[in-house]
Amino acid sequence: MNVTPSLSAADHAVKLDRLAETAVRVGLGLRDGQELVVTAPVEALDLARRVTEHAYRAGASLVTVILNDDEQSLLRYRHARDESFDAAPAWLFEGMAQAYRNGAARLAIVGDDPTLLAGQETSKVARVNRARSKAYSPALELIASFAINWTIIAAATPAWARCVFPNDTEDRALRKLWDAIFSASRVDVADPASEWAAHNAALARRTATLNARRFHALHFRGPGTDLFVGLADDHEWAGGASTAKNGIVCNANIPTEEVFTTPHRARVSGHVRASKPLSYMGALIEDIAVRFENGRIVEADARSGADVLHNVLNTDEGASHLGEVALVPWSSPISKSGLLFFNTLFDENAASHIALGQAYSKCFVNGDRLSEAELAARGANRSLIHIDWMIGSAEMDVDGLDTGGGRSAVMRAGEFVI
Ligand code: ZN
Ligand code: ZN
Repeated sequence: MNVTPSLSAADHAVKLDRLAETAVRVGLGLRDGQELVVTAPVEALDLARRVTEHAYRAGASLVTVILNDDEQSLLRYRHARDESFDAAPAWLFEGMAQAYRNGAARLAIVGDDPTLLAGQETSKVARVNRARSKAYSPALELIASFAINWTIIAAATPAWARCVFPNDTEDRALRKLWDAIFSASRVDVADPASEWAAHNAALARRTATLNARRFHALHFRGPGTDLFVGLADDHEWAGGASTAKNGIVCNANIPTEEVFTTPHRARVSGHVRASKPLSYMGALIEDIAVRFENGRIVEADARSGADVLHNVLNTDEGASHLGEVALVPWSSPISKSGLLFFNTLFDENAASHIALGQAYSKCFVNGDRLSEAELAARGANRSLIHIDWMIGSAEMDVDGLDTGGGRSAVMRAGEFVI
């Protein structure tokens, strides 16, 4: 193929701009006069600027962009004193939480290098993650409870592109990753807004069907997997657009293909094997296999990154329980791309998955009106972490179980049949 550089650069600029506009209009549903907090890797400055422009054009009162730099993160591992690894900028996260309490929306641009911390001491990585999770929790709580409208989008970065396309030159890898992001984010079409409206409507039909069935549990069967996931009392399936507590309709993840709900923290049993590697905080955990008893992981192993997995499970009591179960057809566009993105935003939308840790209150009937105690009584899990990992495959069957023991096919060979 022969494309003049200027033409392809112009095409890239158009799609980048559509991604920014889609993030602001569809992802956030940014309200006139609303403040916006953006975080982004330095390599995504171009996208962050376009987001800023579209936010102001949509009436934002103030846009604050916080940039992060992988190189600076590594300098800490190379040169900082030991006590540094228990430190986190609590003042920054408290400030972000304060902005959300005052009505700000939140947009995260992700483009993490999946292998950034691969060479670092796992105990130090674990301490940094724990300190960060603790300090971040005031802000995370407002996000997890959908107190505000928020969204996550992705930007291709050189280090990430190298992981996804290791056999290409850096330029080519970057271009391919951008194309994959544009396509998965549904901005490679002339009118992304109407494309997203149709996609959201399809996801809404799927959640309505599952909500009408009121299953007591799901039974997953596939290679290495025979798992019963009890669903929380008064659980509600969600997917696609949702209404935050501030009344604004937003799409929290771009892309998104999943429908998801809350498992009962004490009613998960059996064993399950991951169908894709999990990239977590710069480490790769491959071939996770765990066994649940009474909702808790009692055995956990992985072919690589087992120490990282064990550190994750030791974060707190809730880290060994489930906070989410999600169904994604194997034929989803991201799955069909055949790519492993080493990034949860993409990989979780390629396969059915479960998440360790914090549950979403919005996945309950009237969840936004329930107290912490009421959520816990219905089976919601609490934790500092929320980590999705993929269990779905073309060989996965899922049944829905009724309270009375009735069984209905929900998925066969990775596809919805309900
Ligand atoms: Zn999910
Ligand atoms: Zn999740």
